[in-house]
Amino acid sequence: MQGSKPYRPKKLTIRELAKAGVAWDGNLLRIPFVCPQCGKAWSPNVLSGGRMPKGYWHCPNKCNLR
Ligand SMILES: [Zn+2]
Repeated sequence: MQGSKPYRPKKLTIRELAKAGVAWDGNLLRIPFVCPQCGKAWSPNVLSGGRMPKGYWHCPNKCNLR
């Protein structure tokens, strides 16, 4: 069953996001995520306390949701 589910990053690190199909330069102040598949860039709204919203790593075009 390997590879049948999209990877969920366990924490906000470059390596974890890369496993989930997200390119990130590691800059926590800007957080410009880029989808390597479609080239779309997006910035999730960081919640109070510095927490990330649910599904923050999802490409707006859903490339890494399958
Ligand atoms: Zn994409």
